[in-house]
Amino acid sequence: MLITGSCHCGNISFRLNWSPEPAKIPARACTCSFCLKHGGVWTSCPTGELAISLREPAQVSRYSFGTRTAEFLICARCGIVPVVTSLINDHLYAVVSVNAFDEVDPAMILSAPTAFDGEDQAARLARRAQNWIATVSISSGA
Ligand SMILES: [Zn+2]
Repeated sequence: MLITGSCHCGNISFRLNWSPEPAKIPARACTCSFCLKHGGVWTSCPTGELAISLREPAQVSRYSFGTRTAEFLICARCGIVPVVTSLINDHLYAVVSVNAFDEVDPAMILSAPTAFDGEDQAARLARRAQNWIATVSISSGA
């Protein structure tokens, strides 16, 4: 299943090839302090392929906090956060926001509140390496 998404103005966009074809898309309404404030609901397909495209990279704000192991890609123009990346052992992983999807039937999305507060940093990185999208590319320009 090919899922496309973007921020509101189109500066940050992505194409996620979800494979094998999903019956449902499990989404995590993250309860960390940042995601609570902007309503972040994330999903990932560990065996999928994600291509992120930044039309104007200078207009992308990269925000980290806490353990500083993840980067939220925030569009500096419209304020939407379509993607989070994490560099683990020189390998780039990512999750995408279901709120930034273009045309996915909302009935396909199964959202559940999720808290990762109790994790130490090693457990957090191990979970991401297992669950996040492991094939990620980022390109810049039109
Ligand atoms: Zn934007």
